[in-house]
Amino acid sequence: MDADVVGEREVTILIEATGDHAICNDCGQKATEFCGPSPRLRLRHFQVFNRPAYLYLRPKRFRCLHCYGQPETTRLDDWYDLRSGMTRAFAESLLLEILGGALNDLTLKHQVSRDLLRGILKRYVTSEVEGLNDKAPAVINGVGGDRSLTRL
Ligand SMILES: [Zn+2]
Repeated sequence: MDADVVGEREVTILIEATGDHAICNDCGQKATEFCGPSPRLRLRHFQVFNRPAYLYLRPKRFRCLHCYGQPETTRLDDWYDLRSGMTRAFAESLLLEILGGALNDLTLKHQVSRDLLRGILKRYVTSEVEGLNDKAPAVINGVGGDRSLTRL
């Protein structure tokens, strides 16, 4: 695959991995000797042209010259979430939609205000949920520039 593709069902976007080092899993120092790409990742992202978009990239592997045996470490970046297989920007937008929908449902069901529910959420939940805390707003270094988390 050499170019981005707009298919009937999905959009494929090829991403080139960046960075000139990884942090060594063994010693925590910079591993700087490039030793090739990792297997390709497929990451779900926002829709493009009304189709689900998938980003494909091959993270870089680096060898640590500080450690005995010169182990290799794959550079993984924080703009994607490997466990969910999607970009953090997309995951966080889904989370906000879930919370927004739940707030609307509860407002109607229990006849309480959104502000009251937001207060409860802040007191009970946000310290547990990264990115929803006012003191530490999440900033995503994502594809297409920086993006801040939108508040509920
Ligand atoms: Zn090392």
